Parts: sequence; C-alpha cells; structure tokens
Amino acid sequence: MTQIGQCLLCEQTSALQHSHIIPKFVSDWQKKSSATGYIRNAKAINKRFQDGDKEFWLCRNCEQIFCSWEAPTAQHIFQPCNRRDTRPYAYGSWLLKFATSVSWRSVHHLLSMDRDQFQAGDAILVQDALRSWREFLLGYRPNPGVFEQHMILFDLIGSMADVDSIDLPGNFNRFLVRGTYINIAHAKGHPLFVFSKMGRMCVLGFIGIKSPHHWKGTKLHVNNGHIGGDVVIPVEFLGYLKSRAEKLQSEYGAMSEKQRKLIRQDYDNKTECAIDSELFEATLADIEMFGKERTFKYS
Ligand SMILES: [Zn+2]
Repeated sequence: MTQIGQCLLCEQTSALQHSHIIPKFVSDWQKKSSATGYIRNAKAINKRFQDGDKEFWLCRNCEQIFCSWEAPTAQHIFQPCNRRDTRPYAYGSWLLKFATSVSWRSVHHLLSMDRDQFQAGDAILVQDALRSWREFLLGYRPNPGVFEQHMILFDLIGSMADVDSIDLPGNFNRFLVRGTYINIAHAKGHPLFVFSKMGRMCVLGFIGIKSPHHWKGTKLHVNNGHIGGDVVIPVEFLGYLKSRAEKLQSEYGAMSEKQRKLIRQDYDNKTECAIDSELFEATLADIEMFGKERTFKYS
C-alpha cells in the first residue's frame, strides 16, 4: 500500500510506504511467542491485532535505510536477548542508528496523536531533539549530541530480594519481558526521555535529562560497543517502570468479560502452545513472585 506525499525523513515528495512505527520484527516476535498468536494493544484492548501500528511516513529509499539497521539489530541483539544467550552483545554503527530511528518514530507518533501535549519551551526542546535525530539519521551530523540514545535489555526478575524496596505490581515480570509500547517520561511536567519498549529490549531517547552520568552501561556509542552488561540506572527509573506496569495492568482491567472468556478459551484449547510460550513462562514467574491473586488482579 502506498500514498503520495512528503517523506518525513528526506522531505522529498514520493510514494510513501505504509511503514511500522515499532519495527516489524518486534510484532512478529510478539505474535509467535504469545500463548494465542494474537497481539493485544492497550489502545484497543477489546480488538485483536495481527500487526503493529503503521503510518504513511517514509519513501521507499528511507524505509530501506531503516531496514538496513533493523536487520542486524534483530539478528545480533533482539533474538539473542530473547534466546537468553550469554550477554553482553557486541554491536556496530547500526545500533545507534536503529535506536535513533525508533526514538524519532516514537516521538512523531506520539505528536501525531496529540500535537499540543507540550508547553512552549518544552515543545521547542522536543523539536530540537527531533531535528538532531533526523540530521544524524541522514548523516548530516556525526552523532545525536545531547539527545543521547540508551538501551536496556530486561529479563525476568528472580525474586523479591532484588527489588525489596519497591512494592511492585503483580504483572511486573510479564511487563518486563512482554510489554511493547511507547511513552514520553516526564518530571514535573517536563519531558525527560522517550521510552520505546519492545519486549525485553528498550530504547530511551534522551530529551530533557540533565544528569546523563547517572546512567551507566546503557549509552549507545557511534561506532561500536557492547550492550546488555552491568548497568547503573537512577532509582527514579524503577519507579517509572513500576508506574508503567501498573498502567498496563489497569488497561487490561478495562477488557470486556467476553474478551477475557476468549483468552481463557485460547489457553484451554491450545494448551501445548500456551505452555511453550514465553508469556506462559513470564506468568509463572509472576505467580512465583507475587502469588496467584496478585498475578491475575486487573485493576
Ligand atoms: Zn525519504
């Protein structure tokens, strides 16, 4: 499917592709590894999704450039991470480009849903970040400048002992390894970073972070590096993750009784598929950590 218009990246008028906001390899994985083979999107919880969100943004050429960064990211980071291969993972110049393209797409998508979500000064800052990212993607500048890209690779949390200072919601393991969504994190109303969660792999595009040195082991470098080793993150970020998991839980609470019944039937009818799935494993981890009642609480 195509549509004639101005490409958001190169700004040439061209036939625009119907391209994914979150890369296709992410929705493919979500489909394959879920118990029932369908994607559920929090925006339309009562509808079954078979594909990720798309927009007519990019010309064929720019879409192919994005694909050239997505392929190595899927092969050398995303898939090894899901297979739980020994970390950390080595990367080349494609990873910072990939991460920047994800942050750039995520902010554009969030702006397309609500143009007026930022106050004047913040709106200028967000536009500065978008400009830096675009110029870096097009090769007009050597790096994204202060609008750094960071990556965190999550895994299941083994026990409460690791995180005893925070009262976590009963879906936290499922949230960490399965959740896919995009969001702009704020502090006192000002944008801090755009957070693109693609299952275990998440990208943070810094917008208004004042103390980037509080983040260690997460920053992506221009030419090469390793990702997925030891990290230091500010304690506020854990609080942010907790609040996102709680939001996801309450959005699932909005699911209709009919839909819940369908999910239960899916589990019943595809027992083997459900037991093999990563979602099933993450649900077991939640039961072990929080007990059954908290695991299946939807509010
Ligand atoms: Zn283009």
